[in-house]
Amino acid sequence: MPRPILATIHPAAVHHNLERARRAAPDARVWAVVKANAYGHGIERVFEGLRAADGFALLDLAEAERVRALGWRGPILLLEGVFEPRDLELCSRLGLWHAVHCDAQIDWLAAHKTQVPHRVFLKMNSGMNRLGFTPERYRSAWARLNALPQVDEISCMTHFSDADGPRGIAHQVQAFQTATQDLPGERCIANSAALLRHGGDAQVRLDWVR
Ligand SMILES: *Cc1c(COP(=O)(O)O)cnc(C)c1O
Repeated sequence: MPRPILATIHPAAVHHNLERARRAAPDARVWAVVKANAYGHGIERVFEGLRAADGFALLDLAEAERVRALGWRGPILLLEGVFEPRDLELCSRLGLWHAVHCDAQIDWLAAHKTQVPHRVFLKMNSGMNRLGFTPERYRSAWARLNALPQVDEISCMTHFSDADGPRGIAHQVQAFQTATQDLPGERCIANSAALLRHGGDAQVRLDWVR
């Protein structure tokens, strides 16, 4: 028997939370990060509450299709990028933006046949130690991507490991700034905790918050 757990979702409350995030960084664009199955809520149930976002950021390609099927024509970002080469076909077809965090994903892009160059978010591992290029390797990955006809714009991103905790974000912000210094393109580093704590800092909110 399933556990008798009930979640009640109020779309107005979801919308309220989104507006709270936007107020913390009024001049940044806001990704609604819904991870997978909208953190278990089901994307169809929270879509209305989140449609005032500037984009949807998620993990699952099938969910990206569902967001398009709901009529969303704005940005959709695959936070972990593609998982196999043929995923890139869906990115071309649906106009999905995708993170690039490893060499294999660059190889797949280089071999991808498309008329539509992709917008990518190159991910730096500035201390989360999960995904991304180290600061030392970041610029060479950027240069490789930049040389590909399959790539349109490159944005820079990283993820904080302890935005809510004692270590804070300063060391990661510093590593990110140093390695991306004169690179063109938009930037996105703040997750919820960094946004709520440091959204007033222009070095943290940058172009997009998540
Ligand atoms: C999950 C995730 C977020 C949102 O994380 P919060 O800490 O809940 O704000 C933002 N960015 C990335 C890359 C994520 O994976």
